[in-house]
Amino acid sequence: MVVGGGIVGLACARALLLRARSRGHSHLRLAVLEKESALASHQSHRNSGVIHAGIYYKPGSQRAQLCAQGARTMYEYCEKFNLPVKKVGQ
Ligand SMILES: Cc1cc2nc3c(=O)[nH]c(=O)nc-3n(C[C@H](O)[C@H](O)[C@H](O)COP(=O)(O)OP(=O)(O)OC[C@H]3O[C@@H](n4cnc5c(N)ncnc54)[C@H](O)[C@@H]3O)c2cc1C
Repeated sequence: MVVGGGIVGLACARALLLRARSRGHSHLRLAVLEKESALASHQSHRNSGVIHAGIYYKPGSQRAQLCAQGARTMYEYCEKFNLPVKKVGQ
């Protein structure tokens, strides 16, 4: 069970299900427990929609590396599922 249906909880739930499926456990079910009546109604619903590049973090730090990796993954995901994304400042 994943508690919290924001972007982090939903991403974790998706990753867990994909991993289970890739290991032949497609019968496994996972519950997301969300206290509101709709998913992603807090921070995930109200953010600025920026895919951060990681330039504000100390160069080489784990935070900067994870942010840059996350940005790449997000762009790939958007491309794969044909989701609109704007790349600016490059
Ligand atoms: C104003 C603002 C602007 C932002 N802009 C950006 C941006 O441009 N780019 C970016 O990358 N990030 C941005 N962020 C940060 C980003 O939105 C958050 O890091 C992200 O949404 C956090 O996701 P989350 O799933 O952890 O939290 P949330 O989206 O808050 O989800 C948590 C969920 O858990 C549920 N919950 C809480 N307690 C319980 C409980 N006991 N039982 C069941 N459910 C529970 C809540 O109802 C909620 O749905 C911004 C944040 C803010 C506030």
